[in-house]
Amino acid sequence: MRVCILGGGTAGWMTASALSKKLKNVIKSIVLVESEAIGTVGVGEATLPHIRLFNEALGIDESAFMKKTEATFKLGIEFCDWGRLGDKYIHPFGDFGQKIDGIDLYQHLLKLSRHGDYGVLDNYSFGISAAKNAKFQLPRSGKTSLQQAFGYAYQFDAGLYAKYLRQFSETHGVHRIEGKVVDTQINNDSGNVTSITLDDSQQIDADLFIDCSGFRGVLIEQVLKSGYQDWSNWLPCNRAVAVPCERQKHLPPYTRATARQAGWQWRIPLQHRTGNGHVYWNEFISDDEAAAVLLNNLDGPALGDPKQLFFKTGRRNHFWKNNVVAIGLSAGFLEPLESTSIHLIQEGITNLLELFPHENADPLDVSEYNTRMSLQFERVRDFLLLHYVATKRDDSEMWRYFTNMTLPDSLQQKIDMWLHRGYVQRYEFGAFLPPSWIAVMMGQNLLPKNYDPRVDNSNFDHVKQRSQAMRADIAGAVNNATTHADFLDIFGAASHTELRRAK
Ligand SMILES: Cc1cc2nc3c(=O)[nH]c(=O)nc-3n(C[C@H](O)[C@H](O)[C@H](O)COP(=O)(O)OP(=O)(O)OC[C@H]3O[C@@H](n4cnc5c(N)ncnc54)[C@H](O)[C@@H]3O)c2cc1C
Repeated sequence: MRVCILGGGTAGWMTASALSKKLKNVIKSIVLVESEAIGTVGVGEATLPHIRLFNEALGIDESAFMKKTEATFKLGIEFCDWGRLGDKYIHPFGDFGQKIDGIDLYQHLLKLSRHGDYGVLDNYSFGISAAKNAKFQLPRSGKTSLQQAFGYAYQFDAGLYAKYLRQFSETHGVHRIEGKVVDTQINNDSGNVTSITLDDSQQIDADLFIDCSGFRGVLIEQVLKSGYQDWSNWLPCNRAVAVPCERQKHLPPYTRATARQAGWQWRIPLQHRTGNGHVYWNEFISDDEAAAVLLNNLDGPALGDPKQLFFKTGRRNHFWKNNVVAIGLSAGFLEPLESTSIHLIQEGITNLLELFPHENADPLDVSEYNTRMSLQFERVRDFLLLHYVATKRDDSEMWRYFTNMTLPDSLQQKIDMWLHRGYVQRYEFGAFLPPSWIAVMMGQNLLPKNYDPRVDNSNFDHVKQRSQAMRADIAGAVNNATTHADFLDIFGAASHTELRRAK
């Protein structure tokens, strides 16, 4: 089997690393073609905890990788002004507190809140409390420890990550070719792509092509006409303007997403700079106004000029068609509100490894792959949309648009079940588990009418004592934890002398 990967962005080099490491005795050759003249999308800095599994599977050393990619730890995302203007909450990675009498803590809290002793959900998450205090530690082992019940991800420079993985891939035998694809040869009987031709007339033959060519979708769309499901009726933001600014001294270990009149703004603290961007719907704000909103809301001086990006949310009809598999932006795009794009790349790679063809792509594998990836995309879409509809905001055209929207059935059912009895329907596939849904729904004041009746079976005083003990346990642990900046230094991940002197 000869594999050709088209594209050397995050998607291309993640795919090259994984295939060269995990299928080295199965794949005869891996060629990666990229064009420096075209370049990469150049944004994408916040991730989900799953990426740690990806790096671990490659055998990457965590502190060395963090140092090379200017990475910081990420404990979650702080959402400002989403439920109502002035509201704030953090969506952490991991659960809230521990079960009491076998029932999730949040169910007990729903009852406690009726008696005036709620104790905000935040106080039951080590990740949230640590994030608010700019502290960090690795999860502790021990099943019952509240300091074990959180996850973490990274905020990094995606360009440096791709560079890091390029080195990894080349060491594992991947052959990189610089050039621009100008032509494609197709087998008329099978419809498969047999080779691509570059601008220097070089022809590259392969049995399987991975299209990581970004929004262009050079093979999956321009050649194979997969088609695109346009989801902009649900997620209408279609542009972004991005600019880095000077790094923050105390390095918050979390991403921030602040809702705006016609979109939202991200802030992602890295070791060497802070990434910022304004995602917006151009129907209700001009490009110049959007850039002004961004530049007026930075934490430090801008480093360079704002960069404009255009997109349409949705996904390809077929992620895998004939002998072409689309991974990355070529597969589809969902706005970066919950940092899901790199995660969807990882899902694409994981599913491809699990369904990797023997010789020719079998329709059964293709169909299974497409089903899994469709579900992954749809579930992320629903979760993102939840942020826009679980709100009381109606102070601009964009927010009013969401108040009248017909939701996808899958999301409507999930919200109905939550409102009815505080239950979060579980999925077989999908990045976000019930605690994530609970964090956003409760964080945005979408509260259920009822709690689980089994809660009434518990002794009320016992529940109060247990919940108070959990709050105290977390507060004490956060108090004893190291600052994020110091932890990077101790961990051997600090790239800057300035950071190493931050104590
Ligand atoms: C505004 C915005 C913010 C984002 N923020 C995040 C975030 O915080 N977290 C996250 O996980 N993701 C984020 N993303 C998504 C993330 O940037 C992408 O998922 C990631 O960078 C992968 O991109 P890619 O490799 O698919 O495409 P690209 O980076 O566009 O790379 C495409 C590659 O294909 C090559 N290519 C294209 N055409 C040809 C041709 N004809 N011949 C040869 N080579 C060709 C290019 O040279 C390039 O190497 C964001 C995206 C946007 C738009």
